Amino acid sequence: MSKQGILFVLTGPSGVGKGTVLAEVRKQKELYLSISATTRQPRPGEQDGVQYYFLTREQFEQKVAENGFLEHAEFSGNCYGTPAAPVDEQLAAGRDVMLEIEVQGAMQVHQMRQDAVRIFIAPPSFAELERRLTGRGTEDADAVSRRLETAKHELTLADEFDYIVINNTVEQATADVLAILRAESCRAARVEIK
Ligand code: 5GP
Repeated sequence: MSKQGILFVLTGPSGVGKGTVLAEVRKQKELYLSISATTRQPRPGEQDGVQYYFLTREQFEQKVAENGFLEHAEFSGNCYGTPAAPVDEQLAAGRDVMLEIEVQGAMQVHQMRQDAVRIFIAPPSFAELERRLTGRGTEDADAVSRRLETAKHELTLADEFDYIVINNTVEQATADVLAILRAESCRAARVEIK
């Protein structure tokens, strides 16, 4: 039987750069990136089954009722959830899995999977987060201020996680995440000496 993969969770406030850092990490480390389900509307260029599975609220609730999500949360008026089956299949096949999710969901993962390794990406400052989220241009002013309000609370939860990476620059944050992934793969409990 092959060795079980490691479940990694990357979280942090919206706009902190989780997606950018993860894209860089994946150039250097093979990871199965879980595709979440969401009830939010696709942004221009987003495709169903690529960035997300876009579901109606009814479809989402149906999947919740069937216990189909590893975790799920409401964020800024929309629902987001991690489909459990693909994650379990990949882990069982010995592949490391990465979830890129918001903070409430990341905290739920810990309750369900105590062996998950959870990394919190923090901005260098709140002002910088505001600048990044506004500059991204993917949300209107109302949505940006809702996300910033949520971010204030999320930042207070950072020390609940296993690791905190401050995203000063993409290069440094990528190197930090890769170092964590590497170190976790060498944990005594995960290494079998033949
Ligand atoms: P966005 O609407 O900008 O794509 O995502 C909003 C937030 O939801 C981001 O912080 C993103 O990481 C998070 N998110 C994406 N997928 C999931 C998921 O499956 N579960 C949870 N809890 N959060 C998610």
